[in-house]
Amino acid sequence: MTQENAQQINLLNIAGNNAGNKIQINHGNSGQSDSDNDAQNDAENKIRDVIIAGSGPAGYTAAIYLGRAGYKPLVIAGALTPGGQLVNTTEVENYPGFPDGVMGPDLMDSMQKQAEKFGAEIVFDDVVSVDFGDGSDAGALKTVTCDQGEVYQAPAIVVTTGSNVRKLGVPGEKEYSGKGVSYCATCDGFFFRGKPIVVVGGGDSAFTDAEFLTRFGSSVTLIHRREEFRAAKILVERAKANDKMSFILDSVVDKISGENGSAKSATVRNVKTGETTEVPAAGVFVAIGNTPATEFLNGALELDEKGYIKVDGASTRTSLPGVFAAGDVVDSVYRQAVSAAGMGCRAALDAQEYLDSIK
Ligand code: NAP
Repeated sequence: MTQENAQQINLLNIAGNNAGNKIQINHGNSGQSDSDNDAQNDAENKIRDVIIAGSGPAGYTAAIYLGRAGYKPLVIAGALTPGGQLVNTTEVENYPGFPDGVMGPDLMDSMQKQAEKFGAEIVFDDVVSVDFGDGSDAGALKTVTCDQGEVYQAPAIVVTTGSNVRKLGVPGEKEYSGKGVSYCATCDGFFFRGKPIVVVGGGDSAFTDAEFLTRFGSSVTLIHRREEFRAAKILVERAKANDKMSFILDSVVDKISGENGSAKSATVRNVKTGETTEVPAAGVFVAIGNTPATEFLNGALELDEKGYIKVDGASTRTSLPGVFAAGDVVDSVYRQAVSAAGMGCRAALDAQEYLDSIK
């Protein structure tokens, strides 16, 4: 018997012994019809030893560790942007091990391959709801439901769903989304060759995006609501030295206007003087941060006041036993690819300890 088979059987036993489970596993042939058996087999096929929801650096690192530990993690990687935020980034210069930098999508592709090499199964779907129970039953199966209707169960869950882009919430943003308004410079920059571009934000993303967009735009104007930037000094200095870039500070975008169905300009208001200016903008790239992706939890786990999942001290244990969380969905402070990867490693070790304890 392989280690993998042994674990699968242990876990099915765990499932079968739990009174509070939502499905009952029956290994014997007890006179059931073929269709009963088919339904049962299907249910068993949807039981995994551990499910990882999310596929950024935290999710794939957790998968690599759990895979190497002999488990067979299921990674529900997301339908739209598997790999997370780094897939929408250009060059990453601060991920250790890459002295010449690495393209965000290439880094995530490598992480995915590494997770698969150690046995992770990856599905490209979104978790839309969960039933984690009330935590009273050690080792109980937790249920996750995906957008395509698939339902999976496991005694251990690692939540690494990261965060969603924050929107400006101004008139014209929705209307011109995909017609000038974009949240992904690497995806859409190419469409604005020779045209004026506006980038909104003052963090690392806004500066990384703006620098990338100077390859395409006739001009790139960075609009930021304060005078000081949150971005790393090296990025700010590079941007200031770039002839194509200009800055409008202490200012916010109040409205995005268009012509013939495409964005044409942004109405920009100085927050100190109240003065408004119409800034030409065929492309408006919004890079004002993210909000934790926790809606699908629907109250299943305790969140902090900003909506991030609460964990127990330096561990990745959430408010429910057997459910762990890592990366940007937990971390409102550091939010780096490498810190998310480190936390994914901790989540895997915490999940392993839990799985061992319920055998
Ligand atoms: P961020 O650091 O949270 O910065 C968001 C920026 O948007 C801030 O300047 C903020 O202004 C501004 N902002 C927020 N809400 C706004 C609103 N409603 N209207 C106008 N402006 C608004 O987000 P980020 O730049 O996406 O970075 C997220 C994390 O990823 C950070 O930890 C960053 O270091 C990391 N990251 C790293 C790299 C890299 O190393 N290559 C690249 C990208 C991102 P205030 O400053 O006034 O709050």
